[in-house]
Amino acid sequence: MRSRLWLLIPLLLTSLASAQTTPGELAGALQAAARTGHAAAYQKLLRAEGTFAVEAVNFAADLGRMPQPTAVFQFSDVGVNGPQVRANLNLSWERQPGQVSQVSLPVKLFREGEVWHYGGEALQALPAGQYSLLALDVPGLPVQAAAVAPLLSQAAARVRETLGVGVPNAATVKVYPGMAVLSASVALSLQPVGGWNEPGEAIKLVLPGGANPDQELLRVLSHEFTHLSVSEAAGQGRDKRLPWWLHEGLADFVARAYWTPGAAESRRERVAGYAKGDWVPLSELVDFNAVPESQWKYAYAQGLALVEFLANACGKDAPMRLALAFAETGEADGAARALGFASFSDLETQVRTWLMMRGSGVAINSDTAEAESR
Ligand SMILES: [Zn+2]
Repeated sequence: MRSRLWLLIPLLLTSLASAQTTPGELAGALQAAARTGHAAAYQKLLRAEGTFAVEAVNFAADLGRMPQPTAVFQFSDVGVNGPQVRANLNLSWERQPGQVSQVSLPVKLFREGEVWHYGGEALQALPAGQYSLLALDVPGLPVQAAAVAPLLSQAAARVRETLGVGVPNAATVKVYPGMAVLSASVALSLQPVGGWNEPGEAIKLVLPGGANPDQELLRVLSHEFTHLSVSEAAGQGRDKRLPWWLHEGLADFVARAYWTPGAAESRRERVAGYAKGDWVPLSELVDFNAVPESQWKYAYAQGLALVEFLANACGKDAPMRLALAFAETGEADGAARALGFASFSDLETQVRTWLMMRGSGVAINSDTAEAESR
């Protein structure tokens, strides 16, 4: 008796979980999972392949951390019935109190038997040599995104020259038409950003405008390629041991070659101000998911400052040696000692002293474009 009852419960759960027999029901099920923050239920609704397999799991994990009780998922323009159809996913949610986000993106839906699954964004592949370049399949974007292809090897060379690490040939780059759409594809809790990379995910970016779009693209690409290369050098499973501030510091250390003189100067002045009195202990900037948005700018500026100090004081290879020491030891004191410092706090103190001597000491409050690329 008892064993039959136990058998019945999983059967019931399975039939409930696979009830989405129309695209409308699929949208409703995605929405319910997003509203309740039920990551596992969300994942059951997916057909995830390629980099979307990692991206979708991370998207679901974000819902688990930060449920979106106001989220509305709707599909429109659903293609003719077949095993794989195109549709538009119209998403709206209140990301922060009083701040409603609304995006629409082309997506793929799959029908297996009677059951529909969500397959992520509809993308168009573009020729890009050894890399994989994809553009969100909205009118005009694939043509514009072709401009990225010739810059990929240039950005990869910049990473190799600066840090001595190679960019994996398997790198995948996805181009989006705007920051809100990009962020909506990463995590509903994420503020709009112009570039993105996490281990195992595609590099995601928005085509920059401005007077010198190629330079801007190289800035974003070299920043995101650095994340990819540093994660790969650290090794799977160990990449998460690197503190977030160090990841961003290394990425900006490479990308600053493409900063405008104004952006470089403003960053220098700002971090000199932090060193004097506004410094956030780096131990509070270790985990991206635990750092409030208002503190993000410190992770970038202080991370870069520490990397610049190391390159200056200990040689060009010192920043990567620190990253690999973090990957090896998994803790800050051990990593700092591997480079000859007494402790991590010794290293942090020396960075602040160096900054105060280097900087003009003028603190300004501008958050320039440098913080746009996560
Ligand atoms: Zn970054």
